[in-house]
Amino acid sequence: MSDKDFREFDPDEKSTTDISDEVIEEVTGQEMNKDKVDHEDKPTEFCYICHRPDNIAGPLIKMAPGMSVCRDCMQHTFDSMGGFGFGGGDNSKSNVDMNKIPNISFLNLGSLFGEGPKVKNAHGAASQKAEDRPAPAIDINNIIPPHKIKAMLDEYVVGQDYAKKVMSVAVYNHYKRVATGTMDDIEIEKSNMLMLGPTGSGKTYLVRTLARLLDVPLAITDATSLTEAGYIGDDIESVVSKLLAAAGNDVERCQQGIIFIDEIDKLAKKKNTNQRDVSGESVQQGMLKLLEGADVEVPIGASSKNAMVPTTTINTRNILFICGGAFPAMDEIIKARLNKHSSMGFMADLKDKYDDDKNILQKVTVEDLREFGMIPEFIGRLPIVFATEMLDEDMLVRILKEPKNAIIKQYQKLLELDEVKLDFEDEALHAIARKALDKKLGARGLRSIIEEFMLDIMYEIPKDDNIGQVIITEDYIEKKGGPRILVRTTGMIPEKAAAN
Ligand code: ADP
Repeated sequence: MSDKDFREFDPDEKSTTDISDEVIEEVTGQEMNKDKVDHEDKPTEFCYICHRPDNIAGPLIKMAPGMSVCRDCMQHTFDSMGGFGFGGGDNSKSNVDMNKIPNISFLNLGSLFGEGPKVKNAHGAASQKAEDRPAPAIDINNIIPPHKIKAMLDEYVVGQDYAKKVMSVAVYNHYKRVATGTMDDIEIEKSNMLMLGPTGSGKTYLVRTLARLLDVPLAITDATSLTEAGYIGDDIESVVSKLLAAAGNDVERCQQGIIFIDEIDKLAKKKNTNQRDVSGESVQQGMLKLLEGADVEVPIGASSKNAMVPTTTINTRNILFICGGAFPAMDEIIKARLNKHSSMGFMADLKDKYDDDKNILQKVTVEDLREFGMIPEFIGRLPIVFATEMLDEDMLVRILKEPKNAIIKQYQKLLELDEVKLDFEDEALHAIARKALDKKLGARGLRSIIEEFMLDIMYEIPKDDNIGQVIITEDYIEKKGGPRILVRTTGMIPEKAAAN
């Protein structure tokens, strides 16, 4: 494309302040269509017992006006009646012979709706026969090798080479372990991970991308919301419940998923306190069994257990746990340790040797984690410890433009739909990165900065069909000038004009 197809924008040439009625018409038209689509996706009724909508739980059975129950809950109720001596099992102690009451003891709602063991599956894999189970999702011959996992991550995650390598190997080993069960007498240890790293350095993003690429369900929880069972807050097992929901209530898939617990540093043992630490150390204690592998009874379609909600048993043995946290003040602990080691003898280093080391978190050891307040048993169950790098200006610029779904690619795509070409000068990208660094939010700050100045552009451009190209300049980012706007002279979109 050549610039001769454009001339600089003349603001007097055409009024750009009015939005024509035509545009308003179009927007409302789209809105209406959107409503229509949304409505089609929406559930129409909810189960009275488990509160799942009918688009998830299947057709509901009407019990009374305003009271419908899904067939899973109905079946569960019948099953539990059997357990109490009604209907099934032993009727000898019961005065009522429920077998004589039609449609109770012999009713299997699954078969009524033409379904076999699938309904059972939702309520309890434990009770399901082994031969009924679907083939395991992870197959030893199909596990993606680490270099391929890393190559896939490279397409989305900029830098963080070490973190990506460690994760790829850990995930590979984990799924090998899942696929083989155990190898002879040698039980392979679980590859649970502990990921340290500054805010906005991509910890959550790495895990999210990994789960998506591997096509396994993922649940993300904030450790700050967890408390010891019986106290206000989510109990620890709620994380498994979230994973079950992410797996679409498929027990088999859930048991091979990933749970990411963010802000794990907030669970550090509080120093100098005599009170019971229900949201810190106790949560660490409570998580031990879960991390290692335990059977947990979790509610289906609800976040908390109660008598009316059906439950199922999930074994966490093959669930991969990844814990992440920024661990503020950890750098001081590491520095103190390193300085202690290097301040004696002829080889003594300067005391401030590590002050400028931005990636000091990568030197973390198990002792440092203990000093920080993580209990040894907890650290022991997260054998893979690593840290992400602090993002610098160049990495932020790369994040802006390189990943497959990079932010500026998304904006370019949006404007392309208006047949307008969007370009960013390199200096402009650096200016955005510097602003993000000032905010100290890592890559998380990038989007809000871009959004701020793209707002005007996205607002103005649809007003004027003559605009063919917008170039974002450093001056525009620094608020010293405006973007360069080029108008179409040929009435064609820029690429077409250049081609001609
Ligand atoms: P953290 O969990 O470390 O606080 P996030 O994973 O939430 O940070 O990162 C925030 C956003 O920044 C992500 O959604 C992603 O878009 C972007 N991001 C961060 N690091 C990277 C990276 N290395 N490559 C590409 N995008 C990144």
